[in-house]
Amino acid sequence: DEDSLRQLAEQLRADGIDIVRIGYSDLIGTERGRDVLVDRFDRTVGDGVAFCRSVYGTSPMGDVVDIAGGLSAGLPDIVAFPDVATARKVPWEPGVAHVIADVHNPDGSPSEESPRMVLRRVVERFSELGMTPIAGPELEFYVVEKDDSAANGYRRYGEATGNVYVSGLKGDPENLLLGSLRELAAYDIDVVAANHEFSSGQFEINLWHSEALDAADRAFRFKTAVKELARRQGKMATFMAKPFNDEGGSGFHIHFSTVDDEGRPLFDDPAGEDGLSKTARSAIAGVLAHAPALAAISNPTINSYKRFGPDTLAPWLVDWGLDNRSAMVRIPPERGRASRMELRLGDASANPYLAIAGLLAAAYLGIRDGLEPPAKLEGYGYDPTRADKLPGDLGTALAALEEDKDLAEILGPEFVSTFVAYKRNELERFGQYVTDWEFREYAYHL
Ligand code: GLU
Ligand code: MG
Ligand code: MG
Repeated sequence: DEDSLRQLAEQLRADGIDIVRIGYSDLIGTERGRDVLVDRFDRTVGDGVAFCRSVYGTSPMGDVVDIAGGLSAGLPDIVAFPDVATARKVPWEPGVAHVIADVHNPDGSPSEESPRMVLRRVVERFSELGMTPIAGPELEFYVVEKDDSAANGYRRYGEATGNVYVSGLKGDPENLLLGSLRELAAYDIDVVAANHEFSSGQFEINLWHSEALDAADRAFRFKTAVKELARRQGKMATFMAKPFNDEGGSGFHIHFSTVDDEGRPLFDDPAGEDGLSKTARSAIAGVLAHAPALAAISNPTINSYKRFGPDTLAPWLVDWGLDNRSAMVRIPPERGRASRMELRLGDASANPYLAIAGLLAAAYLGIRDGLEPPAKLEGYGYDPTRADKLPGDLGTALAALEEDKDLAEILGPEFVSTFVAYKRNELERFGQYVTDWEFREYAYHL
């Protein structure tokens, strides 16, 4: 309300802040927002900050997509209200604070398409069961540098000297990772650790777990921040799923469990099979049962499906296993309070709010319906005779999402239809686009 906004503005001013960046997630998880002078903050922001609804209906390159209630309805407003509790100083941008907003329709109702609202709705379903969902995000990404001689215009940072878990300047010659880790910690993202990944120029940073909305807020901020920090060094960080043909993709693994109203862990049961509770088993079963639809949300680009495959450490099949990194759902070995699942399905390009909301929605359905998971995977995880394959392309995943009415009911049917329309437009544009692969494959021989 006005009072808390005024208090926030006063406190920020006292901390030397002159600009507040109001940001929120669009459908694909990129930040949209406005920079407001702190002296105008409470007055401007009290009734919400208006934006054109096109934020839900423009592609990264600016193509206008005709989502429902968008272009054909004259592009009406959506209104952003800062969530005061999320205000943070931006450590590398003196004088600037950042606050995350909730998006509403002009009539005051929550925006159906707002990813943060989608997640709030799913969390609400858990609270009806007396459960609080907990999430711990891990994100991988590549850092690249401009190189006009490279086919796509970029080369990988730290070229050819990096490998998984190499420390120090060997894989990170300019100490980009250390610097970023410190800035992210100062930004209150609650990062835990950073490491070099399998490919040169590829890194991972782990976020500590917390309640789902907070975890999603931190992952959302994290992605924007990592890209900003790389830009400051003249580089580009990318969360694209599979940027290079010959290198691994970038995953967005999510650790997930639930606690009850007293904070007691609900996935642990020393007497249960594998030390897991019935709740945990049903959550796993729900995630497996809804995996094809879930893929559309956690693997949301045309490029995403090139990350899947045998022997990639990304999943390929709809399966689960105990401490098995080739399974789609891995159950890490710790038990007690740390009993949890690690969903390895998603890739780094996913919108953090939606990837977490999708996981929660599928787990919720499994728990609500008391589902039992199929037999767990043991040993080699990429044998296609033992489990179904994940969707092989975005179109297949979108069709699965459209068919999964139960999942849509939890996520919100309006959201799902807008998301599908937006993504089908992407597929259409790609379908008409001539790629360099086609020229290489066909031009000489045909
Ligand atoms: N890069 C792999 C993925 O795309 C994960 C590798 C790892 O386990 O760190 O999911
Ligand atoms: Mg990793
Ligand atoms: Mg992991």
